[in-house]
Amino acid sequence: MKALTWHGTHDVRVDNVADPKIEDSRDAIIKVSATAICGSDLHLYNGLMGGMEAGDVLGHEFMGEVVETGADVPNLNKGDRVVVPFTIACGSCFFCNQSLYSLCDESNPNADKAAEVMGHSPSALFGYSHLLGGIPGGQAEYVRVPYADVGPLKVESDYTDEQLLFLSDIYPTGWMAAHNADIKPGDTVAVWGCGPVGQFTIRSAWMLGAGRVIAIDRVPERLKLASDKAGAETINFEEQDVYEALLEMTKGYGPDRCIDAVGAEAHGQGDPEAERRSSDSSEENHPHALNEMIKSCRKGGHLSLPGVYTNAVDNFSLHGLMNKSLSLKSGQTHMQQYMPPLLQTIEQGLIDPSFIITHRLSLDEAPDGYATFNAKKDGCIKVVMTP
Ligand code: NAD
Ligand code: ZN
Repeated sequence: MKALTWHGTHDVRVDNVADPKIEDSRDAIIKVSATAICGSDLHLYNGLMGGMEAGDVLGHEFMGEVVETGADVPNLNKGDRVVVPFTIACGSCFFCNQSLYSLCDESNPNADKAAEVMGHSPSALFGYSHLLGGIPGGQAEYVRVPYADVGPLKVESDYTDEQLLFLSDIYPTGWMAAHNADIKPGDTVAVWGCGPVGQFTIRSAWMLGAGRVIAIDRVPERLKLASDKAGAETINFEEQDVYEALLEMTKGYGPDRCIDAVGAEAHGQGDPEAERRSSDSSEENHPHALNEMIKSCRKGGHLSLPGVYTNAVDNFSLHGLMNKSLSLKSGQTHMQQYMPPLLQTIEQGLIDPSFIITHRLSLDEAPDGYATFNAKKDGCIKVVMTP
């Protein structure tokens, strides 16, 4: 079959690889009908994440049709249409029992190695480094889904793939990001990053009762989507000092809730110029979005961090966090917890997630899709591919 494979920094290729096979009685094989590129894939593309091997199949946002099931997948039948969560979870360990699926203790076969290298052992993810299980991803014609009795969400309504696909990651991720910020009705919520995750965070903040949403980025098309289509006030961080603008917009208090939907890029990882600057311990090596939100947030406020950091960062404003009595919640999304209720919001007509798509490509065009999405050029906000 054809699949998109990683070969090194900025080197992804469409290769012919072996078809996946059932390896365990809880596996299913899915024929992929739609798959997307995520900001998290860019961390791999930019060489920020260890544990990658040449030839690894990428992709953790995908959906499709069940073509085969193992003996212990009673919930699925051949022909079922499913959206697959990016986190792989056993459904019955200590963490899964608390609905903390992205912390599953069973799904990552390389958990010991991950603990040794990273100091923690997350669940397995599709297409995301051998430290996270080395499970081949879904930017491919077919994919093996482990623990298929737990993860895949069966969809019976006739919504299009484009309307359903983002239940696999960015819609639940934006929702959990907003939920983790503990938004109360009327709160002013500031969101750093207007990429796909930021856009779903903004819409989720409104659904949770925010009174005002302030969106921060520098890419004009992304700011425009946040303002014109989602009613956010915006700050272009290249044109304005974010801290001063936020204080001015909130009578000197700062926003009640602040969300970092940027992650590793915030301090320039992957950008050769920023990496040169960050080889010293100057201001340039700070986690900018993270520190800016600590500095800007109203005293006693809540911070949420869906943005992925792939390693330790220096000069994190711990003193601001502590002395302002701020609370911080974070995490890879506990997908299986949020998918069923968020499917209902689509079926009730509360949101049509396809608003985010700007680029529609074939799987063969995936390398171009990565380059365009990474450079944030041609108005690119989200790339969807059909194998
Ligand atoms: P993206 O790269 O498309 O978007 C990031 C946006 O942040 C860009 O528009 C960029 O211009 C903006 N930005 C950069 N520096 C900034 C700054 N200092 N202030 C404000 N904005 C800034 O990525 P995405 O797909 O939207 O993903 C965002 C983050 O969420 C990534 O780190 C990704 O890995 C992470 N993510 C986390 C989860 C999870 O489970 N927690 C799931 C999916 C993605
Ligand atoms: Zn993703």
